[in-house]
Amino acid sequence: MELFNLKDPSEVVSFSQAVQQGLGKNQGLFFPKNIPTIDDIDSFLAKPFNQRSAELLGQFIGDEVDAATLQKMVDNAFQFPAPVSQVSDNVYSLELYHGPTLAFKDFGARFMAQCLAQFSDKEKITILTATSGDTGAAVAHAFYGLKGIDVVILYPKGMISSLQEKLFCTLGENIHTVEVDGDFDSCQQLVKDSFDSTEIRDGLHLNSANSINISRLLAQVCYYFEAIAQLPKEERAKAVISVPSGNFGNLTAAVIAKAMGLPIKRFIAATNVNDTVPRYLKTGEWSPNKTIATLSNAMDVSAPNNWPRIEAMVEYGYTDKALITGDSVDEEYTQIAVKQLNELGYVSEPHAGVAYKALKRSLADDEVGIFLGTAHPAKFKESVENILGTPVALPKELAEVANKTILSDELPADFEALKAYMIKKLG
Ligand SMILES: *Cc1c(COP(=O)(O)O)cnc(C)c1O
Repeated sequence: MELFNLKDPSEVVSFSQAVQQGLGKNQGLFFPKNIPTIDDIDSFLAKPFNQRSAELLGQFIGDEVDAATLQKMVDNAFQFPAPVSQVSDNVYSLELYHGPTLAFKDFGARFMAQCLAQFSDKEKITILTATSGDTGAAVAHAFYGLKGIDVVILYPKGMISSLQEKLFCTLGENIHTVEVDGDFDSCQQLVKDSFDSTEIRDGLHLNSANSINISRLLAQVCYYFEAIAQLPKEERAKAVISVPSGNFGNLTAAVIAKAMGLPIKRFIAATNVNDTVPRYLKTGEWSPNKTIATLSNAMDVSAPNNWPRIEAMVEYGYTDKALITGDSVDEEYTQIAVKQLNELGYVSEPHAGVAYKALKRSLADDEVGIFLGTAHPAKFKESVENILGTPVALPKELAEVANKTILSDELPADFEALKAYMIKKLG
């Protein structure tokens, strides 16, 4: 598989290089030179999820990974379903939150972990990442127990919920969690300083497991096929997909799926009040505002870093911008949506609420809508309980960790301290 740098098309890399480097020169994103197409969609959709996913990824990756190995990687990564649940006559929810950290990021993070383990089998590598909550949990679980990989996760002391902390700071083994005396920005600064230090970067073979990694994106394409496969055949070509978006990786994956031949009629780019993309789609002007905190906080992003990939697909003729409409849902309507879904007998949370509201505002009678459930309601228990006024039960994944001991180490927000820690633990 060949990929090129969107900022400098003369930089061409293989899949394994793209996965290991994350970003290209000038911080450019990698993008496939060719998007493969599936000829017989109906029979492809009839296959089981993991088999279909391995075949789909194989179409991209080519001979860099043999089919049996790729199947094993997919089986290790996708150990939970992506069910479509009917909410009303012509509206469905694609539930992407049945993985170990109860959010869709499990799909991408786990496949990326499998890829890094596969490609770096000769030398030990260290994943270093900063988190304000969700990403850290997905990364920790994805790499937990993988041979030859150590993971160091930095998070700001006292700034993440106790349940969230329990979810990724109780694993142990190759997962090292560090509570930093500082805020999220200082954690990110420590990560940057570590990558700038030759001693740490080369000595410990650092990798960032960044969210813009191409392996994550390709893994996410797979569940759109799984979603359409679960619709009755006569509804497939009428499908409108509403994606609750922050960095726009999830929407990028949906657009790639359609470019491969998956029958999707059109897309809705649903955001909260951080509405850079909906405004851009209306006016043609890219003007990010200051980021505002909302109930759907995983989407509090005003400069989405995957958008250039969507622009590239428009530019190279893989999609038409007219197929993507934007909608920004404010806090009041987010809460109304969560209530309306509850009245339909469906418990959701604010991210899905944004997607549902945007879908309902736009769906025509002859269309079928799918909105993405990106997180389990229990993950946003407090907001959901406030909105609905009724308790939300903890699923077993969260109930099980509630009594476990936090294994984190504590460090000041100081690079020398982190360096000494890493060398002692991993060097
Ligand atoms: C990350 C995240 C999103 C946003 O996804 P993008 O791919 O960044 O657009 C939406 N919902 C939840 C729960 C998330 O964790």
